[in-house]
Amino acid sequence: MENAATRLAEVNANIARVCKPARREPSSVTLIAVSKTHDAPAIQPLLGAGQRVFGENRVQEAQGKWPALREAHPDIELHCIGQLQSNKAEEAVALFDCIHALDRPSLLTALARAMDKAGKQVPCFVQVNIGDEPQKGGCGIADLPKFLAEVRQTAIPLAGLMCIPPADTEAAPFFAFLAKLAADNGVTGLSMGMSGDYETAVMLGATHVRVGTALFGARG
Ligand SMILES: *Cc1c(COP(=O)(O)O)cnc(C)c1O
Repeated sequence: MENAATRLAEVNANIARVCKPARREPSSVTLIAVSKTHDAPAIQPLLGAGQRVFGENRVQEAQGKWPALREAHPDIELHCIGQLQSNKAEEAVALFDCIHALDRPSLLTALARAMDKAGKQVPCFVQVNIGDEPQKGGCGIADLPKFLAEVRQTAIPLAGLMCIPPADTEAAPFFAFLAKLAADNGVTGLSMGMSGDYETAVMLGATHVRVGTALFGARG
């Protein structure tokens, strides 16, 4: 019988195992438990097992469940991992401790404004459209240096680069490419790797892995 605490221990053990050959400290990898679509009772066992960093992809859904959970656990860190509309910037800044999908100038402007207004600077990852897929969000690879320069002109702390590789293909080359783009542009954080490929991502330098299914089971 597998429960959430067992699965959390397994994922943490897997991260520690691949850190060894990569000569990395497991503490250099932040596990983001992606709780989208899962309700508070499903999240509680992970909180009980000590997990404190969670990821949500929709502002409204996160607003519905996290304020109450946070009252019991003030040390919760909440990451916005999904596409963000500019008109949700103020709500996102109020709710989240980190944003992973900063990918265009209009959103940058909206977030910078919202953060100034709130007096709160929320670290952001710049999402890169690493597979150059027209239907996907993310800054284009060719546009990245210019966009990073624009981000650096604001007060927003640049947390790193983030990507979601194309589905149904080997992710490793895309992770390696994101790591190279980060190094080329003087960026240190790397948000990459999900349930199916987080170990590969850690071996290739991920500092943040976003894991849902492997912790919570399949989404309904
Ligand atoms: C849902 C989601 C994840 C987690 O995916 P799993 O395969 O369930 O681990 C990670 N990153 C993003 C951006 C997501 O939307």
